[in-house]
Amino acid sequence: MDPIVRLSRNISAIGLICGVLVACGSPAASSSPGGSGSGGAPANQLTVVTTTTVFADMVKQVGGSFVNVTSLVPKSGDVHTFEPKPADVTKVATAKLLVMNGLGLDDWLEKTITNASATGTPLVKLGVDLPGVELLPGEEAGTQNPHLWMDVKYGELYVDRIATALKSTDPTHAAQYDTGAAAYKQRLESLDASVRTSIATIPPANRKLVVFHDAFPYYAREYGITIVGVAVEAPGQDPSAGDTAKLIQAIRAAGVKAIFSENQFPAKLVEQLASETGTTVVADLYDDALGDPPVTSYEAVITWDTDQLVKALK
Ligand SMILES: [Zn+2]
Repeated sequence: MDPIVRLSRNISAIGLICGVLVACGSPAASSSPGGSGSGGAPANQLTVVTTTTVFADMVKQVGGSFVNVTSLVPKSGDVHTFEPKPADVTKVATAKLLVMNGLGLDDWLEKTITNASATGTPLVKLGVDLPGVELLPGEEAGTQNPHLWMDVKYGELYVDRIATALKSTDPTHAAQYDTGAAAYKQRLESLDASVRTSIATIPPANRKLVVFHDAFPYYAREYGITIVGVAVEAPGQDPSAGDTAKLIQAIRAAGVKAIFSENQFPAKLVEQLASETGTTVVADLYDDALGDPPVTSYEAVITWDTDQLVKALK
């Protein structure tokens, strides 16, 4: 059996067990009094501010009509290089709960919190010290690749942490948050299964990914895709000529069929790689940010990306 497939099954089992443990585990957020909405939200809605549209959607799926959620980074925006504006400071100041990923993805929020004098507002870091996460080879806890949610099993762990934080901040609606989280996690279980079924239709030799930035290592590990390379080391930094030459070599050596761009980044570099290697560009995978319909939810991100991979690599 392919070792990648075997590994991914083991991780899948671990993810499932720890998902249960986390649901029974310790709270991720400190509690605060109050919880009624502000800033123009209907009465009784909890005002939640997240760094990205993906996390905003997750909060909305759990909290439903009891939350009023705003993302600081807009759809199709780049969270890595985002610079908060005065209006963002105001949004943070009015929040009753703040949600970020941590792990270097959106650490700019912490400065915004200080600027907004909101250090007393409950803050949830979805990816930090998340029980049940298995590090990638060579990684250390606290400094790992931040894109954990791209593995749906880890997305479910985010949902647990969101539910715990909502209940802690707004205990009046604890039962509703539990119900919302349970229904959402059930859908994510089905989504995870459907990703496996879809990827299984790609011939194993074609399950290779080249993408603009390094957002897919957990997705790739869980669903049995090999990352051949990424166009940039970090968003906002242009690769050196040497890095690009190495990547072109790797693309040729691996016989990669297609290169993927991402909705929040310019496609120019990826197009250049494709033309030099005789591959095609598949526009656009989604990861850090939601986009236009139909990619307007976390579930849609995973479904869309999986469909694009299957179409391009089958
Ligand atoms: Zn990213």
